[in-house]
This record gives sequence, C-alpha cells and structure tokens, in this order.
Amino acid sequence: MQTKRQPLVAGNWKMNGNAELAAQMQAVLSEAELSNVDVLVCPPMPYLHHFIGAGFNVGGQNLSEFESGAHTGEVAGRMLKEAGCSHVIVGHSERRTDNGESNTLVADKVASALDQGLVPVLCVGEPESIREEGSFFEFVAAQIDAVVEKVGIANFAHIVIAYEPVWAIGTGKTASPEQAQDVHAFIRSHLAKMNSEIAEKIQILYGGSVKAANAGELFSQTDVDGGLIGGASLDPQDFLKICLAAKE
Ligand code: PEP
Repeated sequence: MQTKRQPLVAGNWKMNGNAELAAQMQAVLSEAELSNVDVLVCPPMPYLHHFIGAGFNVGGQNLSEFESGAHTGEVAGRMLKEAGCSHVIVGHSERRTDNGESNTLVADKVASALDQGLVPVLCVGEPESIREEGSFFEFVAAQIDAVVEKVGIANFAHIVIAYEPVWAIGTGKTASPEQAQDVHAFIRSHLAKMNSEIAEKIQILYGGSVKAANAGELFSQTDVDGGLIGGASLDPQDFLKICLAAKE
C-alpha cells in the first residue's frame, strides 16, 4: 500500500528580495489556509526573522560544515537553529557550481545540519550534458550515495530530497511531468534497496522552473511530493498558488 506523504513546497529566494517583500510574503502566507501542505520559506539570512514564529517553516539556503571558528562569511547550523530555522538547503546546484561544493562536502554539510536537528533539503540533479548522454540515474545515485556513506540510510528519515535537473533551474525549461516522475521513482527505488520504509516515507521535491501554471501537473505525479521553487517563490501570489496546487 502506498504511504500518503504530506506535500512540501519550499521557496528558495536565492540572493533576491528585500524587507518589503519579506513582509508581504509573510502576510500573504499567514492569511492562507495551508493545512494540508508543509510550507518552507528560505530567504536570505537577514530576512529570516520576518518569518520565524509565523506558523510555517523557515530555512537557510546553506550552512557551513563546521560548528564554529575562523570561517568569515559562513553560518553554522547551530546558528540557523538558534534563529528559528527548521530546514536548510544543502548542495544546491548553484553552490555546487559557483562554490565548488563536491559530493563529499555536501555530505559533510548534511551531517552538520542533522547534528543540529535541522532538516537538510538535499539537492541533487544532473547537468544538461549528463541528461543528453543518458547517465542521469547514475549521476543522481552517486550524489545520494555520498550522503548515505557519510550519515547512514537511517538518517534519511530526517532528510528531504529535492531533484533539480540543472538544465531546468532558472531556464524556463521545466522537466516534463513524466521526466520528473521517472527520476523521482528511480530515487525512491534506489533508497528502497537500502531501507524500504524510509524510501516510502521520504519527501522528494521537484525543482526547476516550477510555476503556478505547471505546478499542479508536476505535483500530481506519484513520487513528486511538492517542489523547491526559485523564481516563482518571489511573488507572494504565485508562491501561494503553487502551495495550494500541492495540497490538491
Ligand atoms: C531553484 O533555485 O532551486 C530553482 C528551482 O529555481 P527556478 O524555480 O527559478 O528554476
């Protein structure tokens, strides 16, 4: 029997927005009826406080693999936790590309987040060349296996996975619902070989040019449990529509 998983919609603002947008978003989400969907907002750090205690989840976009020390510009998981975050995005493709984050470093960051009781939103996904070559299942499996090796499969009970094909992020080129479902089902079956209960329960989000217009079809796929939303999470009404599409 298939487990009913609560959908999750997460907004990744990246390095966008301002205090005014934070106040507007907070007001729109607070007034909405969002009982059957988990909502997570990941704004830049200076705006986190606008969302803390407002009735939905708040997350960081990155954390250090270290607990403290001489690491100028970094933020530790314990600081995000203390600020009121429940989640943290780890291994977003922009960090993998712009900051050279390897599978090993991403695994260390997942471990740091778990140590602090934060839920890591572990981003995986293939670049266009790997999609064209056809080895995307292997590519995504290797990204996941590096984390399994570091933290163990049991910890995936406290992890969310976001499948974000790099060719679909910020490009307007969304994966088709079938392409998304194929990879999500693959991820679940890959985890099931290690622990079937965890595989059945884990939330697997799709990310890559999700909009209010395509969210419903993507989220209706069997193994798609919501989305990680970039551009469209910067418009409160669009983001709300996407959240509402997940609860249908
Ligand atoms: C993202 O940044 O995680 C993302 C999916 O961006 P976009 O929705 O803009 O493609």
